[in-house]
Amino acid sequence: MGKTRPLLLATDSLGAATVEDLSWKSILDAQACANCGRCENNCPASLSGKRLSSREIVQKVLRQTRATLKNSSPQHLHDAISQEEIWACSMCMACVKNCPLYIDHVGIILELRRNSVLQQAQFPAETHTMLRNLELYGDVQGEGAANRQQWALDLSLPLVAEARKPEYLLWFGCSPEYILNYQTTIKNMVNILQTAKVSFAILGKDELCCGDPARRLGEEDIFQNIARKNIQKLDDLGIKKIITICPHCFNTMKHDYPEFNGTFQVQHVVELVEQLIDEGRLELKYPIHKKITLHDPCYLGRVNNLSAGIRKIITAIPGIDFKELPRNSENSYCCGGGGAQMWLHESPGNRISTLRVQEIIAADCQVTATACPYCLSILGEEMKSCDESGKFKFMDVIDMAAYSIGCNYGE
Ligand code: SF4
Ligand code: SF4
Repeated sequence: MGKTRPLLLATDSLGAATVEDLSWKSILDAQACANCGRCENNCPASLSGKRLSSREIVQKVLRQTRATLKNSSPQHLHDAISQEEIWACSMCMACVKNCPLYIDHVGIILELRRNSVLQQAQFPAETHTMLRNLELYGDVQGEGAANRQQWALDLSLPLVAEARKPEYLLWFGCSPEYILNYQTTIKNMVNILQTAKVSFAILGKDELCCGDPARRLGEEDIFQNIARKNIQKLDDLGIKKIITICPHCFNTMKHDYPEFNGTFQVQHVVELVEQLIDEGRLELKYPIHKKITLHDPCYLGRVNNLSAGIRKIITAIPGIDFKELPRNSENSYCCGGGGAQMWLHESPGNRISTLRVQEIIAADCQVTATACPYCLSILGEEMKSCDESGKFKFMDVIDMAAYSIGCNYGE
């Protein structure tokens, strides 16, 4: 489910302008749609009042396909599907997961985004700076190589280029590093790996963005440029195994890089921590006496089937009273930050994160665990405006594990 369709080059169009530019699978999907509404009923964009219906997207493709056959001329998709619809999607995959006919709504939306960006130069103004930063500096914030991973200097981590055949490359990700207030969690990840004596090294100034925001926005030029540079660098350094803390880096490097011959063994850190606990290399011994629930990140739980691993870590910590949210695991509800929504303004309707935070408050747990810098940042900010008492906190599962092992940063 996490694999993105390659950019189609079979027609003159980049992305899909007309139904003839769509893949045979998308055309077949439109014919097969039972119009049952299960996709739409689980879509956070629809549920929060956006003008996007995953069901309607498929139905509009069907109508344009029929009109193409009737008129013997290819019908334009942008005439039927608005810009507002295509930019409202957080690419959470809830529609795809809930469709009984395995229809891929996101593939259609992505082809429309690609065509808007690559052929019509139409994309939301809020993304201009981020895309320019990716193009010029290789990271979302525009920090550039000179400032890359400066905050980690005091950790004295080995660089891959200088280390003696490390087993893993530890990939930080530029969003977690620069914009998501996540450096303490990254340091706790480092502490956990060092406690378990895992052999790893970092890229330092050579680490670029993985390219995820560009790919989800349909900016294939920028994405492919970054992906190819990263793959070349990793190959030159002989990297075989990668660990990352960001579900979006994880998904992109695991599922999208093989399209460009980047075939690495990519693990999210929760997979590795679970494995280290099983092997007896980490002992979760210090209790956390709190009522805790869990918000599953879409790109771990639904897209990559890692829900069980996160729960295994949480429930292995002594003292925790664990309670599930109503929408959990592969049926979790999006935080609203995927599909490059992190850089887009949400309107109309409620914010997706408002609905999720209301659900979390109703569960009445002191702490909500999660395992994604985007989820932590977006839901944490939303909670500040919904809970003035400060009763409800968010915590990354890596911070919880580091505390229980006794190696958490700063204490
Ligand atoms: S869930 Fe699938 S079959 Fe049902 S309306 Fe959505 S796309 Fe069509
Ligand atoms: S990926 Fe998520 S936000 Fe986008 S249409 Fe599907 S359910 Fe809605």
